[in-house]
Amino acid sequence: MKTYLTLLFLLVTSLTTYGQDSYLKVVAKKGDGIYTLLRRHGLDFSNHLNSFLELNQKNIGKDNSLFAGKTYLLPSVSSETAANAPATATSKAAVPKGMDVSLFGKKYANVEIKDQQLKGAVYYLSSGHGGPDPGAVGKYGSYQLAEDEYAYDVTIRLARVLMEHGATVYMIVQDPNDGIRDENVLLMDTDEINYPNEKVAHGQTARLRQRTRAINNLYAQHKGAYQRMLAIHVDSRSKSQNIDVFFYHHENSALGQKMAEAIHQTFTSKYKRYQPNRDYFGNVSHRSSLYVIKYTHPPTVFIELGNIRNDLDQRRFVIANNRQALANWICDGIISDYKSR
Ligand SMILES: [Zn+2]
Repeated sequence: MKTYLTLLFLLVTSLTTYGQDSYLKVVAKKGDGIYTLLRRHGLDFSNHLNSFLELNQKNIGKDNSLFAGKTYLLPSVSSETAANAPATATSKAAVPKGMDVSLFGKKYANVEIKDQQLKGAVYYLSSGHGGPDPGAVGKYGSYQLAEDEYAYDVTIRLARVLMEHGATVYMIVQDPNDGIRDENVLLMDTDEINYPNEKVAHGQTARLRQRTRAINNLYAQHKGAYQRMLAIHVDSRSKSQNIDVFFYHHENSALGQKMAEAIHQTFTSKYKRYQPNRDYFGNVSHRSSLYVIKYTHPPTVFIELGNIRNDLDQRRFVIANNRQALANWICDGIISDYKSR
């Protein structure tokens, strides 16, 4: 009898051990949240949050925070996928991959999810120019300000705020070592890459085609999901000394137009509230001839935030807080568009 009990005990113990061993154990670093920890190990936040909380009940702090130095169990991908996703090609849309947070740079790499207002939405963000093409270049004292660097900084800030609201985001143009930059003068470089990891093509048409191909491939992978594309530029045609922002969409894209109008409305109310003395003129119109508007599959908004050669715009764009405000406002417009879908 005693032997039998011992045997039973051994059997039970080894089963438990087996159960625990099927989960990967990881140690939280200082500053880690659930999102960063899951992402670091290739797990999607929205798909794995619940099982992560369940597995680690005892080691979760206030507001779902983690304790640095503690060991956490990671949900296994296979069980999660099997439980949540029907085995079809379209199930890919439910398992978004999103972007690598290291692109935000050290200071901003820790992205905490504030809410899930954009859960289920997929955004392709394409900052204008890049690689061998700086776009418009303005003289600012002894410095040169390149459009592609300023468009990139607003775009990557936008990527981060969209993620904070639970969106899946792809940066189509990426600079592996710039991160989000708080400097006034953003130095010009040519090392940007095209998603996923291609050298930016020489020649304007080749470059736009490369960008479009990356977006359309991802669009097919996310088939069935709500998907939108934004292109951000800072070389508008306007030469006036007002704040002029242009929102372009395809003439046949009601959804592109709807998002353009939502962002424009947000800008109008924000400028009224925060800069009542500035004249803001937003303009929503169709411009179907623009390459990325014409050839990308998701509904697209092409935004000209100003012109980097214009004095007033230079003074606005060299301030990091202004670049952040623009990103936040675009995000607010995007949220209102998504809510009214
Ligand atoms: Zn441009």
